[in-house]
Amino acid sequence: MAALLTDGLAAQPEPISSAPTAEHEATHAAHHEYLHTQQIQQAHLKRLVERLTKAPDTLREQCRFESDIATPPPTGLVALTFDDGPDEAHTEQILKVLAEHDIPATFFMIGVRMEKYPELVDKVRASKRNMIASHSWSHPNFHALSDDVQKTEIIKGLEQMPARDDLKVYRYPFGNSTCFGNALLHEQGYRIVGWHVDSCDWAFDRAGSVALHEAVSCGVAAQNRNNFVGHVIDAVHERHGGIVLMHEIHGNTLAHLGEVIDALLKGGYTFVRVDDPRLAPALR
Ligand SMILES: [Zn+2]
Repeated sequence: MAALLTDGLAAQPEPISSAPTAEHEATHAAHHEYLHTQQIQQAHLKRLVERLTKAPDTLREQCRFESDIATPPPTGLVALTFDDGPDEAHTEQILKVLAEHDIPATFFMIGVRMEKYPELVDKVRASKRNMIASHSWSHPNFHALSDDVQKTEIIKGLEQMPARDDLKVYRYPFGNSTCFGNALLHEQGYRIVGWHVDSCDWAFDRAGSVALHEAVSCGVAAQNRNNFVGHVIDAVHERHGGIVLMHEIHGNTLAHLGEVIDALLKGGYTFVRVDDPRLAPALR
């Protein structure tokens, strides 16, 4: 378990075979998804413990959870965000679903994965409607890093970002901000953003269910414990819109993306990117 805390998403070993079979790739993807879920579970638990054991003033002084958005979202706007890509199995599929529905989204990418899959970065860029934002170099927990390592993580991640004129946006892995990181990001011209709605796509298993303790930690209502789409829709309705956190690498995200979008369109929501000026109050 301890190793999982320090493993970056990119630090997993590659498959040994030089010519991976489809089965091999599927196993690798499942393993990747499993490690990812473990990481987020650990991060959720740590946040919970920190909130229960540290005074709110201390957390504020340490800029611990500044990604949390305190203001309500503008009514009727939804910004879908896809973290932790690009992903060889899912990025193009997600782009396809977005294009079919003619809606934009924001991709928070990890630097090492951008370096590994430049063609996928280009595809997202070429899609025009979508926006690329930074999500660190190797997806560490910033709360456990020295200032020097934080600096490397941020700067190397930003170096992968395509040159462009639009708003520069950063999301910390697990939403774990620090005072040092915030100052450096602002100096680099970046705004920091978390999310209003956690889709909890990582918490729903392959059979489509969430364990009770995950449901509590992630805010999945009892009636939605077997209903990923229901959870996302209810969570958006509750806030009348908002920035929605999803992950490229989780099967649930892609499998139900069209359904989620259809339901929200039917509910009268308009889809935007996180650089929409109406979302400015949500950015720091
Ligand atoms: Zn992430």
